[in-house]
Amino acid sequence: MDAVAPPGTGLDRTRLAELLRRERAAFAAGHPRSAGAYGRAGSLFGQVPMTWMNKASGGFPLYLASARGARVTDIDGHSLADFSLGDTAAMAGHSPPPVLRAIQRRTADLGGLAVMLPTEEAAEAGHELARRFGSARWSFALTATDANRWAIRLARALTGRGKVLFYSHCYHGSVDESLIVTTPGGGGAPRRGNVGAPVDVTVTSRVAEFNDLKGLERELAHGDVAAVLMEPALTNIGIVPPEAGYLAGVRELTRQYGTLLINDETHTFCAGPGGATAAWGLSPDLVTIGKAIGGGIPAAAYGMSGELADRLLARSDLDLIDVGGVGGTLAGNALSVAAVCATLSQVLTDEAFGEMITLAERFADGVAGVISRYGLPWSVTRLGARAEYRFASPAPRTGTEAAAADDPQLDDYLHTFMANRGVLLTPFHNMALMCPATTAADVDLHTELFEAAVRQLS
Ligand code: PMP
Repeated sequence: MDAVAPPGTGLDRTRLAELLRRERAAFAAGHPRSAGAYGRAGSLFGQVPMTWMNKASGGFPLYLASARGARVTDIDGHSLADFSLGDTAAMAGHSPPPVLRAIQRRTADLGGLAVMLPTEEAAEAGHELARRFGSARWSFALTATDANRWAIRLARALTGRGKVLFYSHCYHGSVDESLIVTTPGGGGAPRRGNVGAPVDVTVTSRVAEFNDLKGLERELAHGDVAAVLMEPALTNIGIVPPEAGYLAGVRELTRQYGTLLINDETHTFCAGPGGATAAWGLSPDLVTIGKAIGGGIPAAAYGMSGELADRLLARSDLDLIDVGGVGGTLAGNALSVAAVCATLSQVLTDEAFGEMITLAERFADGVAGVISRYGLPWSVTRLGARAEYRFASPAPRTGTEAAAADDPQLDDYLHTFMANRGVLLTPFHNMALMCPATTAADVDLHTELFEAAVRQLS
């Protein structure tokens, strides 16, 4: 394997710091209303509705005025091409008309937002999820975090085992068990910054490096792992795709050691209408998915095979009806189920994915061209409708390698440069996602700005 060049190789850090200072000054000058709103938000913990919104490369967040399709407008009146798309929650585009109509029908026309009765649409959504992802039986949640939590509980109940295996530098929401990383000496340790962990994470979890079957087998051989909970490609530390044969190896090992396999498709949904599971012919035991399926309305779901569902339902020792630990009062509510139906049947359709993927190819080709023209030690990786650049070449093949390529100062410079000129990237990394409303002009604007930002650096 080639060594991964350290981040920032060949960069003039003094120049980078000066460019970032200039971009931040331009950002502050160009966004007085956002700066003012931030200054008045002292009633909020960290001055923001949720503390992650402080991940703002310009020094304070842009404040939203309105959003439609692939564009957002901030309260200073700037319109931006949005490639962050709610970190996937707006993969259908902002406020797509079919979802707005479904919301209007369920809110104003029919009513019934928190009623303890199912709607007929829930089974329709279940059919469509089954058609796309293969799992036969579905249940709903409001967040991907909860879908994962409940899938983990079911896997523990099914196997009678306590631990869950995760990949180093994965992200599956605020699931306690998942905040584990590998250590250089082998074994696991809590992820840095883990807030108020209930117990040492090595009590509940095991960890392996992505693309390392030997390491996975070593952990599974302990015989105490209920499930491997994974993204078929890591997407939260840049995109780390599986190497040839890796996912087949994971499936074989999990079967061999009596461990269930859960695919979290929340982000890898971008690989196609049935996520990476369908695109790559995978056969997990359970699938979880959140964010995008609601078209912007909170909704998530988890699916399993008919056989697993029957086994669970036949168990008289499990309280699946009342207070047994799987359930949310608002999960499966009529509004979010209506939004899922509209999103899947009318917005994130099979045809829409084709166009989104073509645009992501254009995006990745544009970035690759700049990287090559300027001889940068960077790489760009595409997964279906999503692309991401990383400050490492060759592209990292594990989460740990990808984490080593982090360069927060370079991220901040590129993000602020783009935001000052009308392009929004995901605040956490250099991810760009295409939605059905994204245009080739949006993609080309990004390529142009990426080149301009790089030119200033060199
Ligand atoms: N799974 C994956 C793969 C994710 O990327 C995320 C969030 N980025 C989650 C689960 C959690 O989603 P939420 O915060 O909506 O619960």
